[in-house]
Amino acid sequence: MLTTNTRIDNAYELALENFDAAADVLGLDNDIREMIKYPERVLTVSVPVRMDDGHIHRFEAYRVQHSSVRGPAKGGIRYHPQVTLDEVKALATWMTWKCAVVNIPFGGAKGGITCDPKHMSQGELERMTRRYTSAILPLIGPQRDIPAPDVYTNSQTMAWIMDTYSMTKGYPIPGVVTGKPICLGGSLGRSEATGRGVFYCIQSACEHLRMTLKGATVVVQGFGNAGSIAAQLLHEAGARVIAVSDSTGGVYNPNGLDIPQLMHLKALTGKVEGFPESEPIRPDELLAMDCDILVPAALENTILAKNASSVRARMIAEAANGPVTPAADRILEAKGVFVIPDILCNAGGVTVSYFEWVQDEQHLFWEAQDIYNRLERVMKTAFHDVLQIHLQRKVSMRIAANMLGIGRVAEAVQIRGIYP
Ligand code: NAD
Repeated sequence: MLTTNTRIDNAYELALENFDAAADVLGLDNDIREMIKYPERVLTVSVPVRMDDGHIHRFEAYRVQHSSVRGPAKGGIRYHPQVTLDEVKALATWMTWKCAVVNIPFGGAKGGITCDPKHMSQGELERMTRRYTSAILPLIGPQRDIPAPDVYTNSQTMAWIMDTYSMTKGYPIPGVVTGKPICLGGSLGRSEATGRGVFYCIQSACEHLRMTLKGATVVVQGFGNAGSIAAQLLHEAGARVIAVSDSTGGVYNPNGLDIPQLMHLKALTGKVEGFPESEPIRPDELLAMDCDILVPAALENTILAKNASSVRARMIAEAANGPVTPAADRILEAKGVFVIPDILCNAGGVTVSYFEWVQDEQHLFWEAQDIYNRLERVMKTAFHDVLQIHLQRKVSMRIAANMLGIGRVAEAVQIRGIYP
């Protein structure tokens, strides 16, 4: 994995590079490109927080609204020491195309605070979240911009944002954020939505490639929310998950790992290491394993030009955002690896966030099975739409997904016209 600034600076450049590649194939004219390529609003705020030892620490924080062309801006909030404005801009840009790929009526946004949440108390996190919320208050709202959890933020963080926003308005407004606890207007199925969406995409890809999922071998990098749920559903469908890793190490069993037991161990100890009936495996060995399906579900930039040629998977399902660089993409394409790109593959999370917002707005809540059925329909329709572009225009699945998303935003901006 690359470190700090390399990873972060590259992310926005990669987002612009992918935009240009897709816009070129679409033949988008320059006026439209100028209108949709760059963020609509970028806000940098100072967040002073009284720390537990009594001193005041100032955090730098951001909220970027990339697009509100197709609906309110939508995107998570990340707490991480390596958050920069460029990273947030990249993630906001990807959200715009992702929401358009699954055809939900949202634009794209992202927020972040440069902080080290692992070394902060609950009290410090709460005070930082509330002060950040008040700093971005003029920008957010259920009809404007709806935050959600991302790396190192969770349903508790969303509850603090919802409460702060509601107190300033004077009445409860659950629709200002998604990924909330169920008791505050959260949705059933939200916590496992990303992994479930990854699973539906893999099912569709298997049909297309005439691969049988039952008995297929699977390797998963990153065993958090997205990776563990995808692994669990693949395991239940009869696939053999032979290797799994997290930030502390990896485990391998050629006969297949018992995923429910592994999830149990991870919940108890916080790691997959030491799982019975498994051997340890190094991160580089894991990515190079002979398998049918590789699921990168950790962070950006894990498959690079230098290790792409050692990948032996037949299919890569990008649960993480930006795990494969453009240079690695070209190597994988030449090798004939079928890649399900991030803005399609991990869109299940924002899709169920959309369901949550709809339920909050109408004050009427749906059954879990109803949510799974709707999610499956959305994901499989999007997969089919991207696949058709891939086959008809003879472009990679990544360019095809970008073409679908960017094309939909371009069409909307053209019809709306320019104000004033
Ligand atoms: P998470 O924090 O729940 O899990 C991340 C996992 O990756 C952890 O198990 C961590 O130990 C592991 N990890 C970190 N560094 C690693 C490394 N070097 N090698 C192997 N494993 C490593 O996060 P998550 O929500 O599952 O998100 C994972 C990815 O999925 C991110 O790129 C995120 O942006 C993307 N994503 C998540 C959602 C969602 O709804 N959770 C939606 C869309 C995209």
